Amino acid sequence: MKYLIISDLHGNWDALRRVLREAESEPFDAVLMLGDLVGYGAAPNRTIQLVRDLQVEVHSIRGNHDKVACGVDDGSGFNAVAQYAAQWTKDRLSPENLAYMRSLPEGPLNMSDGTVICHGSPRNEDEYLLSNGDAAGAFSAGGGQVTFFGHTHIACTFSDSVLDLGVSSVLLKGAEGSFQIDSEVRYLINPGSVGQPRDRDPRAAYMFYDSDDGLVQWRRVDYPINKAQYRILKAGLPRVLADRLSLGA
Ligand code: ZN
Repeated sequence: MKYLIISDLHGNWDALRRVLREAESEPFDAVLMLGDLVGYGAAPNRTIQLVRDLQVEVHSIRGNHDKVACGVDDGSGFNAVAQYAAQWTKDRLSPENLAYMRSLPEGPLNMSDGTVICHGSPRNEDEYLLSNGDAAGAFSAGGGQVTFFGHTHIACTFSDSVLDLGVSSVLLKGAEGSFQIDSEVRYLINPGSVGQPRDRDPRAAYMFYDSDDGLVQWRRVDYPINKAQYRILKAGLPRVLADRLSLGA
């Protein structure tokens, strides 16, 4: 099964549209969406619609911003900007999209081929996996041999050797690259963020994973950042949400 993997879209329709157009040049069987469809960006309905209109099988889970934007969580743990953006989103979701958001399941979600997806980590959908120590805890809690996660907006991979050498990590940098899954090793893999990258590379991030041959490919693509920024400012959302898109922060 060849998957297109997208995460942390954050209502950035301009970025998602570009990613989907670029990804279309390669055939894939299904889409894995790792959560945070909305929140921060100014085009929540259009972003949700684009995902709902995909003509392939889509497996989606909810993110922390999704939960607040559809009223599953009150957002009391959010900072003021995130809280404001989530409420702004909630006030604008169409009834159909609100229902769709409320139907998104909590991760982890297991695919029939053993691939696992989650938002934060396999043991807690709201946990941030930022360090090797964080990942070691997540590995010990279960998950699949190959688990994809989001939430941190940083494209990277954590691997846990069977030889008890501990957890190692690699940042996935550059316009594209690939690596091969080793059947003896467990992985936690983050495709990076479509709509709000935070690794100082403002390009939209996505991934392909072929579970038959174990090939993981990461990609970054330019999109019209100024359009997404204009939407944010025009909507009256905090300026910092526009500024950070060009910084990739
Ligand atoms: Zn996010």
